[in-house]
Amino acid sequence: MGKRLYRHRNLSYWWCYDLDEIANHCDVHVQTVRAWIKSEGLQTTDSNNPLLVYGLDLIAFLKKQNDKGKCRTAFEQFYCMSCKEACPALQTKVALEQKPNGLCAKAICRTCKSKMNKTFKLNDFQKLKRAFNVVDVSQLYDCEVPTLKTHIDGHSKDNEFESLQGDLV
Ligand SMILES: [Zn+2]
Repeated sequence: MGKRLYRHRNLSYWWCYDLDEIANHCDVHVQTVRAWIKSEGLQTTDSNNPLLVYGLDLIAFLKKQNDKGKCRTAFEQFYCMSCKEACPALQTKVALEQKPNGLCAKAICRTCKSKMNKTFKLNDFQKLKRAFNVVDVSQLYDCEVPTLKTHIDGHSKDNEFESLQGDLV
C-alpha cells in the first residue's frame, strides 16, 4: 500500500532544522510541519521564531510517524482496512492462494464483514492449518448458509412434531 515513509537516515542528530528545511526534507507542506509541532508532539528547541527542531528530535519524531501506520497483527489476526485495526477472521476461515512471495490469505472481518488480506510465509502453511479453518475462496462468503439451514431444519422438525401430536390427539 502507499504508506508514507519519511527518510531520516540522512538527518544529523546535532543539527537544527527550521520548518522549511523539514518541509523540504519530508516533502510535505510547511503547514504540516506546524501541525506536527502543534498537535503531534514534535519538539522545538524553544518557542522563539524562527522555530527550530533538533535533528535528534526530528529523527525520533519521523521514526514514530513511520511506525504509526504499521499495524502489528498477531499470527491469527488480519489488518482490516475498514476497522483500521487488527481483526480476527470470521469463523476463523481463511482461503489460501500460493503466490511467488508467499501465501496470500483471504478472510472476512468478524467485526465488519469486509474482506481482509494478509501474506504469510510459505513455511507457515502447517501453522496456518492449525490456527485456521482453511477453506476454498468460494466458501469464505457462504458463511450465512449453515445457520440458515439449521434454522430451516429446526423449523420443519417442529412442524413434524406438531403434526405427530395432532395424530395422537
Ligand atoms: Zn473490519
